[in-house]
Amino acid sequence: MLVTSSTGIVRGARFPGRYIQAAGAIGMLGAEAAGFGRRATVLVDRGIYDMLEAALSSALEGHVEARLIRHGGECSESQIAALAASARDGAAEVIIGVGGGKALDTAKAAARDLGLPVIIFPTIAASDAPCSALAVVYNDDGTVAYDTFLPRNPDLVLVDTALIAKAPARFLAAGIGDALATFYEADSCRRSGAFNCMKMPGVSLAFEVARACRDTIFEFGAAALADCDAGEASPALERIVEANILLSGIGFESGGVAAAHAIHHGLCELEDVHHHLHGEKVAIGVLAGLKLHGQDEEFRKVRDFCQSVRLPTRLADIGIVDASEAKLAIVAKRACRPGEIIHNEPIPVTEGMVVNALKALI
Ligand SMILES: [Zn+2]
Repeated sequence: MLVTSSTGIVRGARFPGRYIQAAGAIGMLGAEAAGFGRRATVLVDRGIYDMLEAALSSALEGHVEARLIRHGGECSESQIAALAASARDGAAEVIIGVGGGKALDTAKAAARDLGLPVIIFPTIAASDAPCSALAVVYNDDGTVAYDTFLPRNPDLVLVDTALIAKAPARFLAAGIGDALATFYEADSCRRSGAFNCMKMPGVSLAFEVARACRDTIFEFGAAALADCDAGEASPALERIVEANILLSGIGFESGGVAAAHAIHHGLCELEDVHHHLHGEKVAIGVLAGLKLHGQDEEFRKVRDFCQSVRLPTRLADIGIVDASEAKLAIVAKRACRPGEIIHNEPIPVTEGMVVNALKALI
């Protein structure tokens, strides 16, 4: 039900407190952190801890008293509690998360539990999670437990494009896949009047940001991947990092989500896809979503784009080699469960429609 004031529908949007992006931005981390407190607890993704330990220490030295912690690998209740305990023990006044999704989410959730500000320093641009007020909590065995919604977005998202340019291009491509969903899902929500992550329709800016996100990835995606192969933080790569992290982040939270992510959730029911990245599966969700609407011309355009930016276009590309009727039914059932975001689409969507859309991607 729409929330209304005396004068009309209540609409909203939310944003990270600050966003800074530059090649070499790690050099700004200390001065930025000092704006939030004197002592920082820094959670560093275990995969890059050894590579970044010295650079992080020297960036923070002279600005804040920093305690670096190697992330255990999972964003679970136990690891969130362990980080919070360590930060409390060190009398931290700010939490800094460094790395990919799970380390960043652990930092966000621990900061929330301690009532401290959080700085997010992503070292890959593989999804639009860094700017969001959302963390995905996993069980210790690696299965998803629940999404946890935070009272506010990160206080600062600081992005060093020189580091992102040196990460494998597959991560950047996956981020383009996640960013690809943003316009189509926000536009569906705009047309249906569905709610965004604030449980209200988005303001018009949210949809303009989503459109800018789409236009940016279409224009600069292929060039950015070539530059990432060369390890170069080029102007095209700068635009794609901004689209993947900032534009897509604002666009999905404030514009709303719909079929592409619902189909992603359905695909994740299959063991086959577990070695594929979030954004790779979301790209398949976008293509299936266009089929749901019978938008064949847009489908061909998006499929060609996906091929140009190394994103999957067929179920086999994400590991579903044997796309049996039974498997597709499992995906469709999860995607269409009651209350699921697929029902944010402006048309009624049934399990049969999802199965047919997926069959077009065999
Ligand atoms: Zn996503």
